[in-house]
Amino acid sequence: MTARQIISGFATGLAAVVLAACGAGDGNAERAATGDIAVVATTTQLGDFARQVAGDRAAVRQILAANSDPHDYEPRPSDVKAVTGAAVVLRSGGGLDDWLDGVLRNAGSQAQSVTLLDAVRTREDEGQEGDGGSRDGGGHEDASDIDPHWWQDPRNAMSAVREIRDALVSADPGGRDAYAATAERYLARLGDLDRAIAACMAGVPESKRKLVTDHDALGYYTDRYDIDVIGTVIPARSTQAQASAGEVARLVRTIRAAGVTTIFPQGSGNQKLTRAIARDAGAKVGPALYADSLGAPGTDGATYIGSMKANTRALVNGFTGGRHACRL
Ligand SMILES: [Zn+2]
Repeated sequence: MTARQIISGFATGLAAVVLAACGAGDGNAERAATGDIAVVATTTQLGDFARQVAGDRAAVRQILAANSDPHDYEPRPSDVKAVTGAAVVLRSGGGLDDWLDGVLRNAGSQAQSVTLLDAVRTREDEGQEGDGGSRDGGGHEDASDIDPHWWQDPRNAMSAVREIRDALVSADPGGRDAYAATAERYLARLGDLDRAIAACMAGVPESKRKLVTDHDALGYYTDRYDIDVIGTVIPARSTQAQASAGEVARLVRTIRAAGVTTIFPQGSGNQKLTRAIARDAGAKVGPALYADSLGAPGTDGATYIGSMKANTRALVNGFTGGRHACRL
């Protein structure tokens, strides 16, 4: 027996010991031995949540790039390839990333696919409760009726993080303690974020909390923090709709009547119409809010928590004409 054969035999034996210790029996030896699984997340927000929970134990690939519009994404062959090797696929849901269906089909994916919208409280859930109605069997109604921008309420982000933790544990049971610890730390930060935004908004007089944006993506945020949405440049929850001339004229009148001084665009939209409406209404265009997408690396909005703080600072500044600033 040569030295090489001895080393090789030793390495094989070691691998068998490691595998036995991990309790791997699914034939995916390499993955189990390193404790590393591949996770695919569609949106920028899900990518951030998944990375926070994954720590250095799971590899996360995020499909959408910063500042891209999830409503009209065209999947690429590399997305199919990424999904093919993934143990867990995270989707946002509610028509925002329906394009994933084709990707999963083309990949012949056996991955555990998790739709986070199903794990959160939708605005429609809240509405049904408010009307005294009861939910019919727990399922969501037609997906097209549901506002898909659930992450704009940090309490929903917390529900999503718990769901992601559970999905990772189920795909990689040996990582249970690691995922529980990373999730717990991040959940504490999300709780702090929610309380800080609420405290910040409470410092703004209610009559000043009036929002005009170009895309109806902040409904969960405005519900959570008692902000009155008085108009939207694109009158739909998708970014693909067009406002009619009559709707634009009506919005200009509404903005003037309400005394709104700032209109907030969102990062991934075309701001031409927003600027024209602001000019006609005698209002300013505020900084772009992080609505459908997080910002590029190195910006305030590169992370979910950073994006929510940046939005809150911008909104409070716009609502109060700069007279109130928050500590965030
Ligand atoms: Zn949107």
